[in-house]
Amino acid sequence: MAETVSGKCLCGSVQFQATIDARHAEICHCHMCQTWAGGITILTECSDLEVSDSPDLGLYRASEWGERGFCKKCGSSLFWRMQDGSHANISVTALSDASGFELVKEIFIDEKPDWHSFTQHTKQMTGAEVIAAFAANGE
Ligand SMILES: [Zn+2]
Ligand SMILES: [Zn+2]
Repeated sequence: MAETVSGKCLCGSVQFQATIDARHAEICHCHMCQTWAGGITILTECSDLEVSDSPDLGLYRASEWGERGFCKKCGSSLFWRMQDGSHANISVTALSDASGFELVKEIFIDEKPDWHSFTQHTKQMTGAEVIAAFAANGE
């Protein structure tokens, strides 16, 4: 069921809200996400992402297609979106209410460090499979 969720960075300067269809969490194990989050990046797909107009909002383009939103003051990782706005994910760990999420998917599984793993049964995709799926959905 679609619902509106909201979240904010650690210092509260950057706030966002978005619509999600389900409380489904997805982990991206790619090297960029590991470094970006300083840990494990847990995202959920969303639509209608709205970010507060804060001078502390930082946007970083780590790839030709993606853009990462973060707080310049406190460093929280907040969202990932396509530069053309066609697709966005928000950080589950930045939500004010992250209860009831189910871990359903792990992507870039081929870049996951072998010293951690999750016990949940998830749909797993390699980086090449993710990029192929994006290309198939693209315009
Ligand atoms: Zn902040
Ligand atoms: Zn990633």
